[in-house]
Amino acid sequence: MTELFKQYKKFSISEQVYRFGEEILDALAPRFAQIDKNAEYNQLKVIGAMQEAGVSEACLLGTTGYGYNDLGRDTLETVYAEVFETEDALVRPQITCGTHALALALMSNLRPGDELLSPVGKPYDTLEEVIGIRPSRGSLAEYGVTYRQVDLLPDGSFDYEGIRAAVGERTKMVTIQRSKGYQTRPTLSVERIGELIAFVKQIKPDVIVMVDNCYGEFVETREPSQVGADMVVGSLIKNPGGGLAPIGGYIAGKRECVENAACRLTSPGLAKEVGASLGVLPAFYQGLFLAPTVTASALKGAIFAANVYEKLGFAVVPDGQESRHDIIQAVTFGSPEGVIAFCEGIQAAAPVDSFVKPEPWDMPGYDSKVIMAAGAFVSGSSIELSADGPIAPPYAVYFQGGLTFPHAKLGILKSLQNLVDRGIVTVP
Ligand SMILES: *Cc1c(COP(=O)(O)O)cnc(C)c1O
Repeated sequence: MTELFKQYKKFSISEQVYRFGEEILDALAPRFAQIDKNAEYNQLKVIGAMQEAGVSEACLLGTTGYGYNDLGRDTLETVYAEVFETEDALVRPQITCGTHALALALMSNLRPGDELLSPVGKPYDTLEEVIGIRPSRGSLAEYGVTYRQVDLLPDGSFDYEGIRAAVGERTKMVTIQRSKGYQTRPTLSVERIGELIAFVKQIKPDVIVMVDNCYGEFVETREPSQVGADMVVGSLIKNPGGGLAPIGGYIAGKRECVENAACRLTSPGLAKEVGASLGVLPAFYQGLFLAPTVTASALKGAIFAANVYEKLGFAVVPDGQESRHDIIQAVTFGSPEGVIAFCEGIQAAAPVDSFVKPEPWDMPGYDSKVIMAAGAFVSGSSIELSADGPIAPPYAVYFQGGLTFPHAKLGILKSLQNLVDRGIVTVP
C-alpha cells in the first residue's frame, strides 16, 4: 500500500476504486499537459494586463460611501478590459451574481420595442424570468421587449436559415450562451461563436451581440470578445474570480454597451463614477491572478470525471476525448438515486460542511427541484468543487469546479465510491 493510497483510505476510498482512477489518470497525462500550456498562456495574459494597467499597492485599498475616484476599482476595470481585449469593463461587487450581470447587460441595452434573439436555443434557466419566457415581475417582456429563439439543429449545428429568417427590423440584440448550462447540447467553442457572430453581423451589422461567458473564461486562449462579441458577461464566483472573489459580476465590451450597463447599475448621470469597492479589491485582483490555473484544475477534474463515468457506461457530455470549451461536465445517471449518490460524494470530499447531507430543494429561478453539493469557502461558488442535479429526467448531474486538481480528484473518487457502495455501479 503506497503512502498516497493510505491518505485516500482515510476517506474510505477502496483500493479498487483508487486503482481504477489511477489507470484513467495515467492515460490523461498528455491532455493535462496541454491544459497546463493553456493556463501558462492565460497566466501571462493576466500578469501582462495587470502590469500594463499599472496595478499598484494602492489599488488594493478600498473606498466607502459613494466610492468616487476609487483607484483600485477603476484600474481593475482597465485590467479586465485588457484581458478580454475590449474597450471598457464594469467589474463590481454591486453586481450580485451572473444572472444579475446578464440581466443588467440586457436591460440596459434594450429599449421598448426592441427584440432580443437567441440563435442557440433556450437560454440558462434563470434568464427565462429575466426575458419573460416564463412570466415574471420586472421582465424584459413587461417593458415591451420581445424575444425570439432559434434552436440548434438536431446535430448541434446552427440553423443558419432559421436565424436569417428570425433577424428582423426590431432585432437589436443577439444573446449567445457559450456554456451548455443545464442542457446536454455541446458547449460552443470560441471559434464557433466567432462564426455565428460573423453570420449575424453580415445580416445586420449594427446588432449588439452579447455572450453569456459563464464557465468559459480562460478555458481557451481566446475569449468571445476577441471574435466579434460586443459584450461578454459573467460571474466572479465562477472562473474569473479564481475562487477568491466573494461576490460580483463583470461586463466587458464596447464602451457604449458598458456605459449603458453602468447607468442602469447605479443611475443615469452617475454611471461608473460611484460604487464603493469596500474591502473586496484584494480578492478580485488576486482571484483574477489565480483564475487561469484554477480554471485549469477545474478542467482537469471535468475531464477525469468524463473518463471515469464514460468507462462505466454512463452518457457523458462532453465525452472523454472531446475538446473542452467550458468547465462543466454532465453525467447522465438515469435515476434520482444516481444523482443523489454522486452529489453526496462530492459533498463528502469538501473542506467545509463535509458532514452535511445535501437535499433536493426548490431553488429560486429553477422550475424543478435541484440537489446541490457544495462545501465551499464562498457560498454557492461553482468554481469551487460543486455539483448540481435537477431532479427531473434524464437525471443528469452537472459537475464543475475544483480550486485544486487533487481536491477535484478526491471528490470524483468519493462520488464513485458512493455509487459502488450503493450497488449502482461496479468497478472493473
Ligand atoms: C451560472 C450561469 C448563469 C447564472 O449565474 P448565477 O451566478 O448563478 O446567477 C448564467 N448562465 C450560465 C451559462 C451559467 O453557467
